[in-house]
Amino acid sequence: MTTTNQEWMKRRNAAVANGVKQTHAIFAERADNAELWDIEGRRYIDFAGGIAVLNTGHCHPQVSAAVRAQLERFTHTCFQIVAHDNYVEVAEKLNALAPGDFAKKSVLLTTGAEAVENAVKIARAATKRSAVITFTGGYHGRTLMTLAMTGKVSPFKLGFGPFPGEVFHARFPNALHGVSIEEAKTSLDLIFQNDVEASRVAAIVIEPVQGEGGFYIAPFEFLRYLRELCDKHGILLIADEIQTGAGRTGKWFAIEHSGVVPDLITTAKSLAGGIPLSAVVGRADVMDVPLPGALGGTYAGNPLACAAALAVMRVFKDENLLQRGILLGGHLIEQLRTMQRRHAAIAEVRGLGAMVAFELFTAGGAPDADLARAIVARSLEKGLILLACGIYGNAIRILVPLTASLELVDEGLAIIADCLQELSPAVDKAA
Ligand code: PMP
Repeated sequence: MTTTNQEWMKRRNAAVANGVKQTHAIFAERADNAELWDIEGRRYIDFAGGIAVLNTGHCHPQVSAAVRAQLERFTHTCFQIVAHDNYVEVAEKLNALAPGDFAKKSVLLTTGAEAVENAVKIARAATKRSAVITFTGGYHGRTLMTLAMTGKVSPFKLGFGPFPGEVFHARFPNALHGVSIEEAKTSLDLIFQNDVEASRVAAIVIEPVQGEGGFYIAPFEFLRYLRELCDKHGILLIADEIQTGAGRTGKWFAIEHSGVVPDLITTAKSLAGGIPLSAVVGRADVMDVPLPGALGGTYAGNPLACAAALAVMRVFKDENLLQRGILLGGHLIEQLRTMQRRHAAIAEVRGLGAMVAFELFTAGGAPDADLARAIVARSLEKGLILLACGIYGNAIRILVPLTASLELVDEGLAIIADCLQELSPAVDKAA
């Protein structure tokens, strides 16, 4: 009988395609809130949250109960064939949660990439235009259109082209890496000059905080500029909130912090607490353009996933999780900044709500992906599941459930501090 992580890794490597990466060579046995146990009985604190899927934690009792109850009713109808109440309620709730003083509608789907694909389809149909502008370092998924939109070649796009045309990348403003807001604005002008006229652009798609790209926060001033630019040229503004949404940043949608109202929003991940569900929500006049039958999918808006999403939304209310996210984010930033004062390797600590990361540089001031990898690996040995990210692979992101106790969070942070001390000894800057 296969019982150890090592044995399972052997079987995994023989059976699973090489292109599927695995950060940690462990297999999960069970999980509860912000803790996970592997098949050998080892306990870990989970700061990765299955890549931003577990804002309400592993197996939240209310979410699990809702899924169990739905399991007893029915598990699948295909909404386009026979509808179900939970789908409609999720759509109503998303319409109410999305910013904007206008009528809204939603379509439910299954994965994040599928939501982005559908947002582009809807924007093209509504504007009768084809071009799409996204940003350097952005991540939008692994389907061919979303890969075209993704602003990082390796490893996502390697060998998979050609990609759908009419996708152009503007520069994402990133002060730490020398891209000013002015340069980002100019890069949009250059696209209109060199690549496509503004009157043929259907949508500008931006992550309010880049997720895979490195937790870089889009300056609110830049988001406001995009809104003006879109209004001027009849372009739709789409916020890809697949990683930022579902309450991670202290608002249900991160773009709310900026006061900017996008035309469409994509959401997924923590929306249904681990059961696959995604959505596009936005202006009803735009959402209604595709004809009946043009949108949907066999599993889209699955009953179990919708029941889970309604429970997630109830848990956010009952446990005041938006407020909790702000408190947790503040605590994480404060603790990480304390580490930054002792460790020159930490070039920056940043966050919006509980979407927090720290970025590592070498003594020479270059992005230090090796140190990020070493910290992630060493943390696992000490019982903490961490996740790196970033265009340079040198940022470590923290996506611990918002339901985690501060004691547990501090236990995790102490492991990060230990790893830093081991791998990049403190320089007491005060001394
Ligand atoms: N957009 C963003 C901003 C994401 O972070 C992700 C996933 N990391 C996606 C799209 C794609 O989502 P999925 O993996 O569910 O297709």
